[in-house]
Amino acid sequence: MTKIGLEIHCQLTKLESKLFCSCKANYREFEPNHNVCPVCMGLPGSLPRLNQKAVESATSIAMALNCATPEKIAFFRKNYFYPDLPKNFQITQLNVYGDMSVGGEGYVDVEGKKIKIRRIQLEEDPGRLIYEGTSDRTKITLVDYNRAGTPLVEIVTDPDFENPRQVRVFLNILSDLLENLGVAEPGLEGAMRADGNVSQVADILSSDRYYSDLFENAHNESNAKDIANLITTDLLGFIDTREKRETSKVTPQHLADLVNAVNAKTLTRNSSKIALQEIVKSGKSVKELLDEMDLGQVSDSSEIDNIISQIFEEEKQAVQDAKERPETVNFLVGKVMQKTKGKADPAKTLELIKSKLGQ
Ligand SMILES: [Zn+2]
Repeated sequence: MTKIGLEIHCQLTKLESKLFCSCKANYREFEPNHNVCPVCMGLPGSLPRLNQKAVESATSIAMALNCATPEKIAFFRKNYFYPDLPKNFQITQLNVYGDMSVGGEGYVDVEGKKIKIRRIQLEEDPGRLIYEGTSDRTKITLVDYNRAGTPLVEIVTDPDFENPRQVRVFLNILSDLLENLGVAEPGLEGAMRADGNVSQVADILSSDRYYSDLFENAHNESNAKDIANLITTDLLGFIDTREKRETSKVTPQHLADLVNAVNAKTLTRNSSKIALQEIVKSGKSVKELLDEMDLGQVSDSSEIDNIISQIFEEEKQAVQDAKERPETVNFLVGKVMQKTKGKADPAKTLELIKSKLGQ
């Protein structure tokens, strides 16, 4: 039986500042590279200073997941050469000397089965790479360091999941818990990212002929990880029985087109999930679905602005709150996403709401 382990990255979106400097944790509101300082840019002579609230938030997650929390924690440099972190290393909590992270050895009860939590660690989120066009065809890659150094919690489970359903239930439990603890907003795009462990992803793709054929024919050098994740996090959930697999209309071309559309920002990650579910049933092309189901990402400012005006009418108290306490603005962003069924460009939405609030 293929067993799945998960690695979940969750942004601590309720914090004021980054993990080791006083730049804002809410990087979404800034022009590119306007939320940076010598510390998060790793300039010579700068020194990191740990955000105490981040440790408290991460510890509360650890405790809620029944983890042991140590007296002392430690951070290490993980060296890697990639442009999304300007320092050439990431400050994180796992290294060869062992684990001194905020929590470990916990568990979550998923429908009577104990899913073990191996460890929970605090680390820095990297910056974002933005491609002109798609990542596989781009001539220019732009780097935005606003997110670099924002607090991220990594939750690693043992490979205890026996089927995709258990994964889904677990992710729902975790998402509710993070929201109830008031440390994160998992609904915000990019705020909660789940990857199957690399070994598990490879296992699924190699042990199951159906998925390995799809993967082999859909991927190329640059989209392999996206295709693998699309199969293991979304597709597995939609065709989790033999009957569904036999009637599924999904082809390698569909998967490649979906990944391209997400990378080109014509489709949000959320909408790609809805589209995939429909493809499994109807076999329609991604292009057809974009027209028919009206799934395309809404980036048009005037269209988003109209929706924001409606929300401001309906949610007067929330508007007042957001004026007094800017950190509550995400409630309004959430309402816009709800109304557009997740199609509004989140960064643009936040920018427009802020300007309407006079912030
Ligand atoms: Zn900074």
